[in-house]
Amino acid sequence: MAPSSPHLPAPPITADLHAHTSYSHGLAGTGEMFEAACRAGLTVFGFAEHSPRPPGYVYPRDYQEALARSLPDYVAEVLALKERGRERGVTVLLGLELDYFPDREDFAAEVARSYPFDYIIGGLHFQGAWGFDFDPADWEPMGREERFAAYERYYRDLASMCRSGLFTIAAHPDLIKIFTPETFRDWLGTKSALPLIREALEALSRAGMLLEVSSAGLRRPCREIHPGPEIMRLARDLDVSVCFASDAHSIDHPAYAFDALAAYAGGFGYRESFISVRGRLSSIPFRPGLS
Ligand SMILES: [Zn+2]
Ligand SMILES: [Zn+2]
Repeated sequence: MAPSSPHLPAPPITADLHAHTSYSHGLAGTGEMFEAACRAGLTVFGFAEHSPRPPGYVYPRDYQEALARSLPDYVAEVLALKERGRERGVTVLLGLELDYFPDREDFAAEVARSYPFDYIIGGLHFQGAWGFDFDPADWEPMGREERFAAYERYYRDLASMCRSGLFTIAAHPDLIKIFTPETFRDWLGTKSALPLIREALEALSRAGMLLEVSSAGLRRPCREIHPGPEIMRLARDLDVSVCFASDAHSIDHPAYAFDALAAYAGGFGYRESFISVRGRLSSIPFRPGLS
C-alpha cells in the first residue's frame, strides 16, 4: 500500500487570510494552526488574531486581558513562522483583526502602528458597548424596526471604517445578520438598504481595501457565506477586489469549505483574490469550480 500523503489535494483557493489562535478564543496555538494550513494545501496563510479593545468594550465572556498581555508573543511567533513557512513553500502573513469603534480611531491607529503587520482586517462586532455577535438572546426581544436600525448603523459604521484609512480588509461584511438572517433579508428588500451598502462599498473601493469573502458564516447560526449574494453582486458591479477567509478558530478550519467559497465567488464573475504583504496587494487566481 502506498504511504498516505500528509497533504490533502490543493484547495481551489490557496490563500486564507484570517486565522485566530488560543491567544483569543481560538483552540490551537500558532504552530498548530500553521501545520493545519500546510495540511490543507494552502500556499498563503495569514494570521489575524483579535486586537485589544479600548476600555468599556467587552463581551460578557472575554479574553481581552490575556490577549492584550500576549500580543507581543503572538507577533513574535508569527514572525518566526514566516521562516518555517519559507522552508515549506507557504507564505505566512502577520495580520490583525482590529475592532473598529467610530469614536476611538486613535486607539485603532496606535495598535495598527505597533507592529509590522502585513495587513489590518477591520472588524465590526460592536454597536456602542454592545457586542452584537455574542448572544442570540439579545436579538430576540428586538422588533423589526429595531433590527433594521441595527443593520443601518452597521453599514454606516462600515462606511466610516473604510474612510478611516486604517484598514486593508473589511471582515465578514454582513456579520450583523448572524442571528437574524430572515429579518436581514427583508431589510435588504427595503428601498434604503442597498444604497446604504453601496455607499459603504464605494468607500471601501476608494480606500483601496479588500472585501473579505468568508466561509465562517457557514459555521455560524446564519448558515450563509459572508457576504450574501445581494452584496456580492453589488461588489462585483463596483469592481471591488476580494480576499478569502475561513476565520479559522481551530485546526479543522484553515481552507474551510473553500470549494463552496470558490464556486460562490466564481458565480459572480470573480477569478482572482488578493493578498497583502506589508500593505502591498498582489493577486492570486483561484479555480472557480462548478457553481
Ligand atoms: Zn470577526
Ligand atoms: Zn475573526
